[in-house]
Amino acid sequence: MTLGELEQVIADAGESPYRARQVMRWLWVHDALSADAMLEVPTRLRQYLKQHFAISRLAVSSVVRSADGTRKLLLRLDDGAEIESVIIPADDRTTLCISSQAGCAMACQFCATARMGLRRNLSASEILGQIVSAKPECADTERLTNYVFMGMGEPLANYTRLSRALTIMTADWGLAISPRRITVSTVGLVPMMERLLTDFPVNLAVSLHATSDALRDRLAPINRRYRLAELLDACRRLPLSRRKRITFEYVMLSGINDSPEDAHRLRAMLAPLKSKVNLIFFNPFPGAPFKPSRRERVEDFQTILLRGNLTATIRESRGLDIAAACGQLYAEKRAATGGRPEGFHQ
Ligand code: SAH
Repeated sequence: MTLGELEQVIADAGESPYRARQVMRWLWVHDALSADAMLEVPTRLRQYLKQHFAISRLAVSSVVRSADGTRKLLLRLDDGAEIESVIIPADDRTTLCISSQAGCAMACQFCATARMGLRRNLSASEILGQIVSAKPECADTERLTNYVFMGMGEPLANYTRLSRALTIMTADWGLAISPRRITVSTVGLVPMMERLLTDFPVNLAVSLHATSDALRDRLAPINRRYRLAELLDACRRLPLSRRKRITFEYVMLSGINDSPEDAHRLRAMLAPLKSKVNLIFFNPFPGAPFKPSRRERVEDFQTILLRGNLTATIRESRGLDIAAACGQLYAEKRAATGGRPEGFHQ
């Protein structure tokens, strides 16, 4: 619920709307599990809230911990569908990787989640629930600092719920997270990209992966709807604040998109844009038709971009030993049980 909606509920219950901020504080700051905990809220209102509303929690069905500190949460939703969130600690930050859908309809060839197809959109409550569930998994000294929508699903294909979740994440009465610490990653749903940046000053990451339409058609079939030229043109026109740049993600697939010629084409494509490139090691999964590029190859690729005056970083793979890449825990469970985990159908 947004603050405005809760104020309405509380007014309908015959109480002062200013109580809404108190309730929100208990929900988002103190992680209250019940209205009973809400000390300064009048007993009558607590009873009313208990009767009419639920404070839901996502069930954590498993937590897998990597040697590098990465933790992957498999979360079970009320209808049995399962989603993943990943806590990724780095030197000065701890990032939570959030899912926006159960499964995904985008059909990218190198992605494990794509194999499930789309089960359904997550509700705003299920998106936010991942943050609430991740908190107790953090060590005492650890605090979530950054949030990336790079888990299961295509966030911009679930914009209504995403924007409700972002509203609550960034509101002073909600989780009060600075939008600068939030990144939404998209396969490139052109019309929604502009909408997102008009509504929220968050960071945008675009999954590019190819420098020709022929290859991108194959790797990320959404390219047949939004061609590269159209995607890049939209990126150029996005309402970015002065210092902001768009991140372009590029998964390095051996012998597919990792040649020096690819790097030169990428440099030329991105030169007119306020961009930075994030080169990603392909995280292999059983049955995947690709292999990761060798480190040397990735570094050579990066060098060409850097020489062309682009900012280019290499994203180190984290949690490789726990199959922490998109959709992989789900895929492993399916392999282990010899069938589909309950709740998914394709
Ligand atoms: N649908 C959104 C967000 C989820 S995927 C998007 O496409 O951006 C988050 C990132 O993980 C994307 O850049 C995606 O291309 C990448 N990715 C998916 N499967 C991968 C794999 N097996 N190895 C490495 N990166 C992968």
